[in-house]
Amino acid sequence: MSRPLRAIIDTGALRHNLAVARRHAGAARIWAVVKADAYGHGLKRAVAALSSHADGFALIELERAVGLREAGVRDPILMLEGGYEAADWPLMARYGLAAVVHHPEQLQQLLGASLPAPLDIYLKLNTGMNRLGFHEREFPAVLTALRQSAAVASITLMSHFADADEARGIGEQMGRFNAMAAGTGLPFSIANSAALLRFPEARGAWVRPGIMLYGSSPFPAMKTAEALDLQPVMSLVSSLIAVRDLQAGDRIGYGGLFVAEGPLRVGVVACGYGDGYPRHAPTGTPVVVGGRRTRTLGRVSMDKICVDLTPVPDAAVGAPVLLWGRHDGARLDADEIATAAGTVAYELFCALAPRVPVVERDS
Ligand SMILES: *Cc1c(COP(=O)(O)O)cnc(C)c1O
Repeated sequence: MSRPLRAIIDTGALRHNLAVARRHAGAARIWAVVKADAYGHGLKRAVAALSSHADGFALIELERAVGLREAGVRDPILMLEGGYEAADWPLMARYGLAAVVHHPEQLQQLLGASLPAPLDIYLKLNTGMNRLGFHEREFPAVLTALRQSAAVASITLMSHFADADEARGIGEQMGRFNAMAAGTGLPFSIANSAALLRFPEARGAWVRPGIMLYGSSPFPAMKTAEALDLQPVMSLVSSLIAVRDLQAGDRIGYGGLFVAEGPLRVGVVACGYGDGYPRHAPTGTPVVVGGRRTRTLGRVSMDKICVDLTPVPDAAVGAPVLLWGRHDGARLDADEIATAAGTVAYELFCALAPRVPVVERDS
C-alpha cells in the first residue's frame, strides 16, 4: 500500500565514522556537528547514537539544543553561532550550553546579561572567510573584556576554514589564527571534517567534524568516502513501479530530454525531487537497480525517475533500487550523485523531504 521509497539511517555507521574521526583527532576532543537536524539524519537519533562516543554536540538551532536538554541529554553542547538576541544568553546559561561569540553586538549582550551561571565561551576569529568572527584589530580588546567578565567561565579561541577541502588549503588562515592566538595560552578549535582529515596541525583542543560523520567525503574529487574508511549513514532506497520497452526515437519524461537511439528497456523509480533527489541530476547519474549499477534517463520529476535497465534486463516492477547509500551489499555514495548534480552531499542529506519515511538500522 505505501509507496516503496524510504530512507534508512544506519546508527552503527554513524558510530563507525565517529571512530574514524577519533583516529584522526589524536588527543583533541570531538564536537560532533549536528546542526540542520544532524544534516538531515535526525537530531535526536544522531545524538542518541553518538552520546558517550562524541565529547559533545555542536549545532546552531537554540530551540533544538534546549529540546535536547529537556529530553535529558547531559553531554556538552556548543551553540556555533551563539545567541541571536539578548534573551538567549541567560537561556544558554540556564541550559548549560557553551556559546560562540562572533560579533560586537553579541559581546555587548553577553557582557550586559545577568546570568544564572557563567558561560563557556568560544571566541570566534575572522581569519579570512569574512562571514563571522572578530577581526585581528578588534581581538585584543574583545579578549580583555571577556577575561574581565563574570559572565565568562572559560574562553576557547575558534575559527572556520574556507578552503580546507580545496587546493588552497589552510596555510593563510592558520597563519592569521596562530598570530592572534600566540601568547594567549588559550585552547583552540578550528578543524571541520576536511581540516581534521588533511591537516593535523589544525587539531587544537576540540575538532568539529560534521559531514564525515554522515559518511561523505569532504573532498570527494581527491578521496572517496570509501578510501577514507567512511560508511554511508543515510541510504535512500525504493523500487521500480513500472517497466516499459522503448523503440528508437521514443522520448522520456518532461521535455523529452532523453531520446532512445534503439530498443531500450526503462524502469520508473518511486523517487523524485519531491523527496529530495536533486532535479539537476542529468541523464547518466548513477543508480543501482536489482544490485547492478546503471544510470538515470531524462529529467527527474517530482515523484519519479527513469532508469536504464540494459544491465538488468530481468528487473520487473518491485525490483529494489538504491538511490544512494548502502543496501543489500550494494554501495553508491551520495557524493557521486551530488557531483553529477553539481552540488555536495551536504545539500542532498539536508534536502531529504519530510514525506520520506525514515527507518533506523544499527549495522
Ligand atoms: C558546519 C560546521 C562545521 C562542520 O563542517 P563539516 O564540513 O561538515 O565537517 C564545523 N564548524 C562550524 C562552525 C560549522 O558551522
